[in-house]
Amino acid sequence: MKTYATPFTTLLLTGSLLGASFTAGAGEHGDAHGDPMAKVTISSTEVADGIWMLTGQGGNMAVSIGEDGTFLIDDQFAPLHDKILAAITGLGGSQPKFLLNTHWHGDHTGGNEAMGEKGTIIVAHDNVRKRLTSDQFVKAFNMKSGPQPEAALPVITFNDTITFHWNGQTVEADHVGMAHTDSDSYVLFTEANVVHTGDLFFNGFYPFLDPDSQGSLAGVISGVNEILNRIDDETVVIPGHGPLGNKAQLTEYRDMLQTVYREVKSMKSQGKTLDEVIAAQPTKAFDKKWGGGIFTAEQWLGIIYPTI
Ligand SMILES: [Zn+2]
Ligand SMILES: [Zn+2]
Repeated sequence: MKTYATPFTTLLLTGSLLGASFTAGAGEHGDAHGDPMAKVTISSTEVADGIWMLTGQGGNMAVSIGEDGTFLIDDQFAPLHDKILAAITGLGGSQPKFLLNTHWHGDHTGGNEAMGEKGTIIVAHDNVRKRLTSDQFVKAFNMKSGPQPEAALPVITFNDTITFHWNGQTVEADHVGMAHTDSDSYVLFTEANVVHTGDLFFNGFYPFLDPDSQGSLAGVISGVNEILNRIDDETVVIPGHGPLGNKAQLTEYRDMLQTVYREVKSMKSQGKTLDEVIAAQPTKAFDKKWGGGIFTAEQWLGIIYPTI
């Protein structure tokens, strides 16, 4: 059995994917894990009138700023809270009235407690709240988390879809079933033609998916297909991780996932073990483009194989 201690430890230390809030116990936030975050800056890219993608460390965020107030999607890690608020203020916004979590992972919900304490209303799929109120273990990263403080929890939850009418936009969040986790939603800004995919899309590298939260490769493919059915060639696509994208890039990603899925499924049905699948290099044609991010082909096969 392969172990992935070295690269995943590096990941954990850099906090680039899941990071701090997984290892922090309830109430243990802020400076205890602040050092790796000290150098992080929050950058903004305007994707439509009044809508920006914000990046720092962890999952990409989106913010809508306008006459109704500030609406934020995801909030990275607790130690970045002040920097994120400063970036929002710099764009003319204020303390978010609403925060929507695309799923429960700590690189998307780490700032929840600070947001909730200041009165931001947190909204998410039912399973985000379920997972934030119970013990969680992400085996791939050997990360445990316990129940989060009350202020960090979504106070409005939905089981399928929810729509906000905000800053002139129809903002629709749709749950996609079991995909990256069982708590994933993508968010459409309908009039602006912008979508935030959550972690259904890692733009440019092999994606993490979390089998301990019911994630599977087939689920991710099906979730991506749902998004592709809702967008067009002009849609601005904010991925969960990686640079801003478009429908062509999301389609290429889906095609890559689908090809690998079929190949590995066929090998698995022939009884091939993980080591045999790795040796057969089913991702070879894709490694140059997709294998240089968080996971090498071998690591990624180790994650997806059990889910296929
Ligand atoms: Zn993420
Ligand atoms: Zn995630």
